Amino acid sequence: MRVFKFGGASVKDAEGVKNLSGILASFKDEKLVVVVSAMGKTTNALEKVVDAYYKNDNSASEYLKEVKGFHLEIISGLKFKSSDEIKKEVDAVFVEMEWAMEEETARSKGYAFAYDQLVSQGEILSTKIISRWLNENEVANRWMDVRDVLVTDNTYRDAKINWAETENLTEEKFSELFQKSRIVITQGFIGTTSENFTTTLGREGSDYTAAILAYALNAEEVVVWKDVPGVLSADPKYYSDAVKLEEVSYHDAIELTYYGATVIHPKTIQPIENKNIPLRVCSFKSPKDKGTLIGNFQETRPQVPCFIFKTNQILISISAKDFSFVAEENISEIFSAISRHKAKVNLMQNSAISFSVCVDNDSFKIPALLHDLKKKFEVLYNDGLRLVTIRHYLPSTIDSLMNGKHVLLEQRSRHTAQLVMKDEK
Ligand code: ASP
Ligand code: MG
Repeated sequence: MRVFKFGGASVKDAEGVKNLSGILASFKDEKLVVVVSAMGKTTNALEKVVDAYYKNDNSASEYLKEVKGFHLEIISGLKFKSSDEIKKEVDAVFVEMEWAMEEETARSKGYAFAYDQLVSQGEILSTKIISRWLNENEVANRWMDVRDVLVTDNTYRDAKINWAETENLTEEKFSELFQKSRIVITQGFIGTTSENFTTTLGREGSDYTAAILAYALNAEEVVVWKDVPGVLSADPKYYSDAVKLEEVSYHDAIELTYYGATVIHPKTIQPIENKNIPLRVCSFKSPKDKGTLIGNFQETRPQVPCFIFKTNQILISISAKDFSFVAEENISEIFSAISRHKAKVNLMQNSAISFSVCVDNDSFKIPALLHDLKKKFEVLYNDGLRLVTIRHYLPSTIDSLMNGKHVLLEQRSRHTAQLVMKDEK
C-alpha cells in the first residue's frame, strides 16, 4: 500500500484532475491512499475571505463567491455526466461556510480558530469533486473525511498530532474502507480536535498528512507528486547549475527542509524516518520518470553542494547597553523575547559583547520583537538580506557565491555553510 500526495498545483484545473486520474489508473492492483490539497491557489483565496471576515469587511462574501466560481468552473471543465449531485455537495459546503461566518462563535474564538474552520473547506471541496469525478470515470474510490482519523490538539493553524489516537483510528477506519475499495481519497492539511473542531497543520501541511497516514498504516512508500522532476540541488530561480538529486538521505532531507528547502514540508520526514518508509518526489507531468527517492541512505547522491536561498531576512545584533559581556543571563533574556514573539531563527552567532541572529523578517512579529529588545539592549539591524545555506559545500562554491557580494556574516560547520548577504533584486 502506498500513500500518494497531490498538491494544489497538480489539481488547479480540469486537466490536472484528469492527469491525476491517469496516474491512479496506472497503479492497477495496489491499495492507494490519496491525499489531496485544495485546488490551485484556493488556500490563499480562502485566507483572503477569513481576513476580510475577521475585519468585518463586506468583501468577505464577494471573495467567497470567487472561490465558488473557481470550483464551478473546474466542475464544468470536467464535464460530469450528471453534475447535479456534485453541485449540490459544493453548494452545501459554501452554505455551511456562510453560516459559520454569520455565527459569532467563529469570531469570538479568535482569528486562528475562524481560519481553520473556513480555510479547511478548500480541501473538502477538492476531494469531493475529485472523488466523484473518478468514480464516474472508472477509477472506483471511497471518499474519507480525514477528520474521522487525524486527531490533533487545539493549536489552531499549527495543530499538533495526537499520535496514539490517530494511529488507532486510522488503522480501524482503513481496514474497513479497504474492504470496500482499493483507493481512498482524502484531505491533506486538516485535522480535528477531540471536541470536533477543525484544525489545520500549517501551510503546505498536506505532505505531513501523507506522512502521518503512511506511519499509521505502515505504508510501503509515500509518493509526493509535484510540478518539478524531483528534489533539486538548488532552486533554479536563484542558481542556474541546479541538478536533480537521485537519492537523498533522511538526514539531508531534514536538514534541507529545516533550512528552508520548500520541496516538501519540514515535518514530513520524521514520521516516515521512524518507520523507515521511503518517500519519492515525482513529477506529475512525467509520471514515468523516477524522481528523487528520500530514504535510509548513507549519503545523498550525486554528492553535490545543495543550496537553499531565503530572502527577506533581517540580521539583528544585540549588545548590553553598558558594554558588558553578553553572557548567560542576557542570552536567556534574548531567547525568551525571541520565543515570545515566535520569531523564526535561521542563524545565530555570538561574540564577547554582542549576539547576532538572522530571522525571517515577518512584518508583524519583528517590529514588536525589536521594540521589546530595545528596552533592555542596544539593538542594531540590517534588513533586506538573503540567507544562503549550502549543505555539503566546497570552499570553491563559497568563493564563487561570495564573489562581488556584500557578505555580512558567514558561518561554517563540517557539512553546512551559511552566508548572510545583501539581497539583490
Ligand atoms: N492547501 C494547503 C496550503 O496551500 C495545504 C497544502 O497545500 O499542502 O497550504
Ligand atoms: Mg497548496
